[in-house]
Amino acid sequence: MVHMYIDLTNIAEDKEYELEFQAQGDNELFDARNIEFFSPLKLKGTYRLLNDVVQLKANLSFTIKAACDNCLVSVEKEYLIPIQETFHKDSESPEEYGYSGYKVDLSPMIREKILLNLDGKIVCKEDCKGICAVCGSDLNKNECSCKTESKNNPFAILKSIVGGAKNGSTKK
Ligand SMILES: [Zn+2]
Ligand SMILES: [Zn+2]
Repeated sequence: MVHMYIDLTNIAEDKEYELEFQAQGDNELFDARNIEFFSPLKLKGTYRLLNDVVQLKANLSFTIKAACDNCLVSVEKEYLIPIQETFHKDSESPEEYGYSGYKVDLSPMIREKILLNLDGKIVCKEDCKGICAVCGSDLNKNECSCKTESKNNPFAILKSIVGGAKNGSTKK
């Protein structure tokens, strides 16, 4: 997805270098979730090479666009993820990031950081009231008159259906 890598060809040992990348993220990363990148991915920070270990200190930032999990309204959300990682030459350990030759590919690490920091539930605001399960109106905009103890309780919906049928039968 993202082509971000550190080139070690002309790098001196134990010297700090600046790094700044910008790239378009791949929405496939979000799998089946209704999320897309709304800004390019930005990685800014410094790196240092010492004894075949690359130390990276950077901030990863990006904005996503998603539908609120409660009321479906469109939400933009900004992320700023501080990163402090090391990359080890020819490492085959799954516990650490590795690289070979003179190129440190940062993409797998970036992918992992995004998925680890992404909210499990995305809402437009913390007290989003969602949508009335009975009439479908957006409860953030207007309180509907549906008489239910809990707007999101499935039994409340059932109760109102049964209640409606009773009213109908008394009209005979
Ligand atoms: Zn909402
Ligand atoms: Zn309602």
